[in-house]
Amino acid sequence: MTTEEKIVVYEEMQKANMSWGDYEGDFESFFMLNKRVVSPVCKLLNIERIEVGLKAPKTKLVPAGFNHTMVVYESGKAWNDTPVNVSKDTIEGGFFFCKFYPGADRAFTEFELDQIHVLSEMMYGYGGRARTRSLLRKAISTDIMTGLPNLETVMRFVGKNIQLGRIGLYNAYFLNVKNFKYVNRMSDQHRGDETMTLYARRLSALAENDEIVGRLGGDNFIAIIKKSETGAFLEGIKKVPVEVYTNSGIKNINLSAVAGIYEIPENLESPEEILLPISFANQLAKQVIHKDVVFYNEEMAKKIEMSQNVMMSYREALANGEFKAYLQPKVDLQTEKVCGAEALARWERGGDVIPPGAFIPILERDGSICGLDYEILKQTCMILQKWVDEGREPLKISVNLSRWHLEDPECAEKIIGMVSKFSFDHSYLEFEITETVDFKEYEALTKLLGKLQKHGFTTSVDDFGTGYSSITMLKDFDLDIIKLDRAFVSMIGKKADNTKDEILISAIINLAKSLHMQVLAEGVETKEQLDYLKSAGCDMVQGFYYSVPLPLNEFEDKYIK
Ligand code: C2E
Ligand code: MG
Ligand code: MG
Repeated sequence: MTTEEKIVVYEEMQKANMSWGDYEGDFESFFMLNKRVVSPVCKLLNIERIEVGLKAPKTKLVPAGFNHTMVVYESGKAWNDTPVNVSKDTIEGGFFFCKFYPGADRAFTEFELDQIHVLSEMMYGYGGRARTRSLLRKAISTDIMTGLPNLETVMRFVGKNIQLGRIGLYNAYFLNVKNFKYVNRMSDQHRGDETMTLYARRLSALAENDEIVGRLGGDNFIAIIKKSETGAFLEGIKKVPVEVYTNSGIKNINLSAVAGIYEIPENLESPEEILLPISFANQLAKQVIHKDVVFYNEEMAKKIEMSQNVMMSYREALANGEFKAYLQPKVDLQTEKVCGAEALARWERGGDVIPPGAFIPILERDGSICGLDYEILKQTCMILQKWVDEGREPLKISVNLSRWHLEDPECAEKIIGMVSKFSFDHSYLEFEITETVDFKEYEALTKLLGKLQKHGFTTSVDDFGTGYSSITMLKDFDLDIIKLDRAFVSMIGKKADNTKDEILISAIINLAKSLHMQVLAEGVETKEQLDYLKSAGCDMVQGFYYSVPLPLNEFEDKYIK
């Protein structure tokens, strides 16, 4: 080869180097690029054919492994079947090879061989870079344990379908696997992961090519499935077969999932907008209505907004004194005089009075309610103290204690510490509690009630007969008062034949009497209810028949002389 010819070879090599160097794509298309780039060099170096290949072992990221061979150049002329083979190891523990074939009746010259080695180095180097880049892209878009797409990838899928104007064709699902904890209990952590991976693969096999299932972490999954496939997909998730690896062998079971579903509107603006509706619907399905499938709707949207507003403004409102203890009178049926009151929380916000139904269930969700209970307790203590200081005979006031207080072993001490700053007689303060079925809570309740009673406070069981509060409460605790739930009272006189309800009410009243407890009936609204309760021997009533809960000044004007 003349010097001029060699210079032309160097120039072509330089061009190939530059076009590979600029290459930003992934490994698979890097091969395709080679087809174009190497052909001038091949002609100059008398290469008749190039074959490249990559073998990579199975990994978490690439569960199927990689085994691909491709012809990237063929001159069309005959070639000699003893190629120069350059092979190199890859970072994943596989190998990359390049086979360069000379013409049928010749071998490569020394100069050609030198250049072929440089060429293979360049292909290996740039190919490796492309490969690493595609692995990295996979790693950041994949849930490593199961190999399923992760949330970001699912969001990208949604984003792409928004752009294509197709997003309205889909439903979004938040899926939570039921009872996976039993799988973990039957096998160990590692084998539990294997079962989860199996579940994930089979779940994602329920999706078609233009659908996607991703893992959010733990036993939570997200899926974007065509609306036309809703029935089939919901049927599929009811029973996903998996193997559980236990010490006594493999068990075949079916896993099902709870689904929160959002019917994506055509005008969805950003992918993130699907997340709140699906997780809310799923939460509602699991914790509130105990159903396996819940579709998100506008009413839920209002609830979400409301609960977010409550959670956002609660602490500040508490600190600003926006919560007020309203008092609802209790009337003694023998004397027909007001004998006490229940303190009920009201949220006074911007001129409105928000009833507890709008915020108590929300604060109950995470225990935030405890702060409010202490606030109402504090205000109640101040009211009692005020009456004492003004030289009036105080009325007994009851406050509600959420069951969340049972989680706090210091609860009794906190209450006692708070009340000890005042000098009124402790029997004027009553604590209303509801029953618990949880054994641990039962123990905590025993301790709490013991301490409160030791300090002379009155105790009562609220909402008796609702299922929260039942007979066992009476057996195990020395409570002073039973508060018969409104649901019972509302039955009085409702049906033509309501003897059963009335028999129950009388029986409860008699039971309480023989246990030396007093009975208060809640929610009395009519004269008929009042008369019946009186004849049945009920001690006290509380209800709209006498008065709704009132702000302190109105209550004092009416009932405190
Ligand atoms: P509860 O303790 O059973 O309180 C009685 C509820 O019945 C009150 O509702 C009261 O306004 C309502 N009520 C009274 N008489 C009648 C009647 O004749 N007819 C009808 N339909 N309703 C009547 P409110 O004030 O909305 O409170 C609802 C629940 O919220 C309370 O039920 C209690 O469980 C909870 N709550 C209220 N304030 C607090 C608080 O400070 N702390 C805690 N933990 N819970 C509270
Ligand atoms: Mg109550
Ligand atoms: Mg009640």
